[in-house]
Amino acid sequence: MCQRRQELLERISEWCDQYGRGRDCVRLLAVSKQFPADDIQTLAGCGQSAFGESYLKEALDKLDMLSGLNLEWHFIGPMQSNKTRRIAERFAWVQSLDRLKVAQRLAEQRPAELPPLNVCLQVNISGEASKSGTDPADLPGLAAAVTGLPQLRLRGLMAIPAPTIQFGEQRRAFARLRDLYDSLVTAGHDLDTLSMGMSNDLEAAIAEGGTLVRVGTALFGQRAAAPAAD
Ligand SMILES: *Cc1c(COP(=O)(O)O)cnc(C)c1O
Repeated sequence: MCQRRQELLERISEWCDQYGRGRDCVRLLAVSKQFPADDIQTLAGCGQSAFGESYLKEALDKLDMLSGLNLEWHFIGPMQSNKTRRIAERFAWVQSLDRLKVAQRLAEQRPAELPPLNVCLQVNISGEASKSGTDPADLPGLAAAVTGLPQLRLRGLMAIPAPTIQFGEQRRAFARLRDLYDSLVTAGHDLDTLSMGMSNDLEAAIAEGGTLVRVGTALFGQRAAAPAAD
């Protein structure tokens, strides 16, 4: 698994170079959903420190098992507003924030002794093809409201475009997200994270300026089809 990670990091560096962005242009988030704690421990032993999970119950079991390791956990899955407390208490980042009600709950529930919860707003850049993510038209208002909440720190944007193997289409979708990001920066938001790119569209995301890629299958192998129940 270390070798697979090393090869992936090298490919990422080459793309960073190729697109004129400097060698360490993106952070690698290892998406460990549906993979066992043992796999996470192995990858952590190779130097990987940031992990992403999508299903809360499964994630909490693994966080408990791995609490001795100093890992940075990102919640990247859909959130029900009645299940935010554990997310606020146990994670360093939430990348799938897409509505104010959930933001308010996370802000209230983030323990005062912890640093602010880092958040990315998830944007629906594919219209009908996706149910998750805020509508781009609502983004400026949501960003302003989230910035006003205590114990949350708005870091940037995340999106999962409709899957396509066509490189040009992948780039166009990511370019839309980058434009939205640039508009928020122009409006005065202090952002540093453009979370885009997964196993099958990494190169396009790097070409379009992504700063954090979320990679599951290219690191861990194929997941079983059915997601774990919450
Ligand atoms: C599962 C998942 C990923 C990783 O997808 P792969 O295709 O396995 O790399 C990235 N982001 C989110 C939000 C996910 O749910």
